Formats: sequence, structure tokens, C-alpha cells
Amino acid sequence: MDYLPLFLKLEGKRCLVVGAGEVAVRKASLVLKAGATVDVVSPQCCAAMAQLVADHEALTYRNSVYTAADLSGAQIVIAATDHPEVNEAVSTDAHKANVLVNVVDQPDLCSFILPAVIDRSPVVVAVSSGGNSPVLARTIRTKLESLIPAAYGKLAELVGEFREQAKQRFSSVNERRTFWESVLEGPIAELVFAGDMDKAKQMLSEHFTEPEDPSKDGMGEVYLVGGGPGDPDLLTFRALRLMQKSDVILYDRLVAPEIVDLCRRDARRIYVGKARDKHTLPQQEINQMLVDLARQGHRVCRLKGGDPFIFGRGGEEIDLLSQCGVPFQVVPGITAASGCASYSGIPLTHRDYSQSVQFVTGHLQPGAKELDWAGLVRDRQTLVIYMGLLGLDKICQRLIEHQMSEDMPVALVERGTTPEQKVYVGTLKTMPEQIKQLHIKPPTLIIVGEVVRLRERLAWFSPKN
Ligand code: SAH
Repeated sequence: MDYLPLFLKLEGKRCLVVGAGEVAVRKASLVLKAGATVDVVSPQCCAAMAQLVADHEALTYRNSVYTAADLSGAQIVIAATDHPEVNEAVSTDAHKANVLVNVVDQPDLCSFILPAVIDRSPVVVAVSSGGNSPVLARTIRTKLESLIPAAYGKLAELVGEFREQAKQRFSSVNERRTFWESVLEGPIAELVFAGDMDKAKQMLSEHFTEPEDPSKDGMGEVYLVGGGPGDPDLLTFRALRLMQKSDVILYDRLVAPEIVDLCRRDARRIYVGKARDKHTLPQQEINQMLVDLARQGHRVCRLKGGDPFIFGRGGEEIDLLSQCGVPFQVVPGITAASGCASYSGIPLTHRDYSQSVQFVTGHLQPGAKELDWAGLVRDRQTLVIYMGLLGLDKICQRLIEHQMSEDMPVALVERGTTPEQKVYVGTLKTMPEQIKQLHIKPPTLIIVGEVVRLRERLAWFSPKN
């Protein structure tokens, strides 16, 4: 993070704007909205600035050249002139005088930068690109504008009005959070969005006096969430919502740090490991931990790579939850096969090449039964092998022994969908040799089948190739 986002209280405080052109007008308008008293200094004044001055008592314009003395008593200064030497002087003087300074379009001269703002006061969303691309920040703002209903401001006001009452009524933070979530995600919020503030208020007052829901006996809940193969963009809305609702997160090695970062900031994060051969926590302990945390009243997000029900042991985890009567939800995720296939331009099925696809694990426990090799060798079928890197030699050899052509194309996708994705293509015969010299990093996925040939034509269209 290059800049720390802050919301500055400027009500009644003096702000200086140097320059009185179109850009200065925009900046002055913004600080005026925050209740500041604004002084504009400039030897010229555009018509829009003159109008702004006429419209706002809190804004004064002085027709003069900037001097360091203008900074006296100012909390912040914004330099928006066409003269680099003036902008630079403002920056130097302000740094000396410890006044926060922004120089338009020159991040290196700034001590703060102004974000793109979505104003649903009292709710304010600020977007910054760290000074790299104001256009990008504005594009994001436009997207958010359409996502955040205008009435969110009203909703926040309503909550503000009842906040003290809630504090008195519910002593624990958890109880208050549950209460407010039921308000913000339920019918009361809907009434606010529909414009019926009076009814919303009435319903909220009643909500305080309603007897406790008998089904809520302090028991928490577990969300078994599929986090997808790596690219955070591949999360579902539901996954994200529950990740942000949970106060404890249990995640393992397959979940990308960028995805864990999307969880609620103050949530407790517990790493439960699981590298091949060195399970940091045995599965039974993870299962029990989920039950214990939920019994303590927590909302627990068990965040898993890909899809929880595909080689994810999700079934075992919810089995114990269900036996112990712990409520849970399962959120599907994009499994590695889908993610890697799309991002490497290899359709898993194709009318001309493959009518079925099998997902198998290549990680065979010592003493485990062999894979049904004959069943894997079928015409017009794609094979996707999870956890197959260590066994690659053996897998290729067995498939050839079971009459799969040694020229059958094979793709190895390393760290699929992430910025480090690499794809190696060979055949059953060549692949084991081909990757021997390479330092391949997990996780990797193996795709075997005629469909791999399509990559040459289609990879160009994939997000990563
Ligand atoms: N539940 C997960 C799979 C867990 S098993 C899912 O649905 O994707 C772990 C295996 O998944 C890894 O050994 C690897 O074969 C595969 N895998 C997971 N993420 C991957 C990625 N980003 N790229 C390639 N393979 C991946």
C-alpha cells in the first residue's frame, strides 16, 4: 500500500487552493463539500470559479500571486496552476510548514492525493490508483456508482440514529453485529431502498423489542467456501460475501494470499497447511476445530482452493458438522480443471475431439488401490489429473501400457490462472523427459487428450497464455 487512506475532518477548517482555473474549481468544490472554508489565490480567475465564489459564502477569492504567507493557518493546500515553478514552490513551502499538500497530477510533489469519490454521505467510498492512473480510479468509481444504491446514505443515517440504543440493548460486539446485519440485509433495508423511511424506522424500533429468536442459541455457522484456482477474479459473489461476513478464516496452502486478503480485515486467520506429505494439521483436527469454533458462536469460513467437493475433502468436513448439528453452507468454486483449461485455451470437451472428461487424482497413497487405468483409456475422452506431478512418469507409462497412443497430447499447467501460470505441451512419450530439467512449482494440473491440440489455435483468446 503506497498511501494510507484516511478521511479528514475539514469542517470549518481553512483550505488554500492555489490557481483558479477549471481544475481548481473541481478541487475547491470537493473541499467545500466537506465543510471547509476555502481561500483561492490566483492572478487570474476563470468564469466557473467566479460563479463558485458567488454561490458559496465559505469560498473567497483573492486576486494575487501566491506567496508562502498564504499557507498560514491552512490545514491543507491544493496547487492547481499551469505553472510548474509555482506548484513546486507551494509543495516545498507546505512541506516546510507541515501543511498537507496536493499538487494536481504530480504525485511526487504531494503529501496526500485526492481519491475518486462515491458520495452517499454519510457513506463515502474513495478509490485511488496511488497516483498512477486517475482515469482508472474514475473508471472503477463509475462501476461502483452503479453498484451502490443511492439510498445507502439514508440507511447509514438510520443506523446512526439507533446506534446508541443498540449499544445499550446488546452488550457484546457479536450480538450487535448480528443485530445490525439482520437490519442491513433484511426487510428494514429494503424499506429504506424503497424510500419508506418512516416505516423503516418504526420497524427498526420494533426489532429492538422483539423477543430473541429461540433458534439462535449462540451457535455460529460454518461456510465451506470454494476459493477457485488462484485468480481472485474467479471468486463467486456469494463466496466473497461470506468471506467478508466471517470472523474466523481457516485456509490452506492452495488458497492464494490475494484471496485471503479479501476476507474481513479484522477476521482471525488460521492457516491449516496441507502440503503434500506434511499435513500441518490432521484432517480430523480441522474438522473438530470447525465444530468447536462454531460452538463458540463464530462465523467460520473454511476457505478452500478450487471447489470444496472436488478433491477437497469438503464432504468429510461437513460430515462432522452435520453430526454435531452445526449449521453450514457450501459454496462451490471454480475447480482447477475449469480454471486451468480456460486460461490455457484447452476446452475440456469438444464436439470433434472429446465427448467426456474424467477428473482423477494422481496422488496415490502408499498401499492405495491402483487407478482404473483401462477405464481411463477411452476414445474421445479428456483426462484431467489432479495432484499428478510426482507420479507423472508412472501415469504416462501406465496409460501407454493400456493402449493409449504414445503420441497423445499432454499439457501440464503450472499455477493455473495466476500471473505465474505456465503451460507445457508434449505427448505421453515426451512429457516426463521434457519437464525433468525444469523447476516446476506446485500446484500443477495435467490434461491428457486430443483437445490439448486446440491450444495452438485458441490460447490466444484466453486471459493468460
Ligand atoms: N479442490 C481443488 C483441488 C484440490 S487437490 C479444486 O477443485 O481445484 C489439489 C490439486 O489441485 C493440486 O495438486 C493441483 O493438481 C490442482 N490445482 C489446484 N489449483 C491449481 C492451479 N491453480 N493450477 C494448477 N493446478 C491446480
